[in-house]
Amino acid sequence: MTDRRSFLQRLSSVPLLGPLAARTLAAKEPAEHDFLRELGVPPIINGAGAYTMMTGSLMRPEVVRAIESVSRHFVRLDELHDAVGKRIAALLGCEAAMVPSGAAAGLTLGTAACITGSNPDFIQRIPDTTGMKSEVLVQKTHRFPYDHMVRNCGIRLIEVETRQELESAINPRTALLLFLNKAEPLGRIKMEEFVQIGKQHGVPTFNDAAADVPPVENLMRPLRLGFDLIAVSGGKGIRGPQSAGLLLGRRDLIAAARMNTAPNSDTIGRSCKVNKEEMVGMMVALESFLKEDHAANMREWDRRVRAISDLLSAVPGVRTERFVPPIANQVPHLRVEWDAARIPLTPAQLMQKLRAGTPSIELVPEPERGVEIASWMLQPGEAEIVAHRIRALLTA
Ligand SMILES: *Cc1c(COP(=O)(O)O)cnc(C)c1O
Repeated sequence: MTDRRSFLQRLSSVPLLGPLAARTLAAKEPAEHDFLRELGVPPIINGAGAYTMMTGSLMRPEVVRAIESVSRHFVRLDELHDAVGKRIAALLGCEAAMVPSGAAAGLTLGTAACITGSNPDFIQRIPDTTGMKSEVLVQKTHRFPYDHMVRNCGIRLIEVETRQELESAINPRTALLLFLNKAEPLGRIKMEEFVQIGKQHGVPTFNDAAADVPPVENLMRPLRLGFDLIAVSGGKGIRGPQSAGLLLGRRDLIAAARMNTAPNSDTIGRSCKVNKEEMVGMMVALESFLKEDHAANMREWDRRVRAISDLLSAVPGVRTERFVPPIANQVPHLRVEWDAARIPLTPAQLMQKLRAGTPSIELVPEPERGVEIASWMLQPGEAEIVAHRIRALLTA
């Protein structure tokens, strides 16, 4: 342990030793705190994916550096918001952009924008939507838990199934048409047609594509097709701050969304605050994400899936299958199933035992069959640990 005197002695000797020694000393001094162990919350192995309950993805190192760098200065928040929005819009080739505190916040702010426009009275009054647009149309198969963020704005969600139903439900109270990107295969109205209906009737279309990159194309396609608003998570595949996201789209709507949040106090979105760290961190993450070698990532994620599969499929009675979910979390996964007659362990029991072990391991929370492992959040060496732990439990 460093006592105060020897610390001061070392400090006083620094100028004599020159810059190299000073750097070595600086690197040693602030011993890294192991906060997680001190708190009794040791890190887990994430074989599940980018889940908010498991803290999303890990921020890229350059994002952490950017956060650290901007944290040392004051700026006028709105000026930074403008500049970051402009840069993100240029990167993605869309009209305008902003950083909300996640895709969920983006849903609230985007909806608020469609209801209030730039009307200051409306902005102060929602979720009381008396005299304003107050209905949102959505395909029945596109309902999802996060549509609560849309309902927060005091609107009524109206479910439709066919094009005809959608068109006849549009009326002067319609604020927007809501689309869930990953639900496209489930709905009768596909993206192109949905956007076209919105344009034809002069009603904004809003796409939640929160968890759908990689691949980048899942973001580029709705942008190209001309959705008026798109919400994306920052802390999933893009690996920015978990409390950040992207709201992309029409200039007037992004401007109105900005009016509905911090630093403006009397607004529905004041609690969706982002500070300079999230804004710049999000921008840096997006830059890296767009430049990344996505094919190389896929190869590495596949290598991990193979490593686990090779070990487990050699166990008598065990079957493995690689799969890639359609649209959301479109990355390599492994499904592991076994003969109940030979191995008397249920998938839930296996998952519980993995959770109870050290280090604790999480797999996909609600597997369709057997247990499912996502390889993209695993850190170096962890695929092998997961494989050996599962094998030990299946052969016990
Ligand atoms: C994760 C997710 C959200 C919420 O995103 P945050 O960035 O955590 O706010 C919204 N919609 C869908 C479809 C999601 O998967």
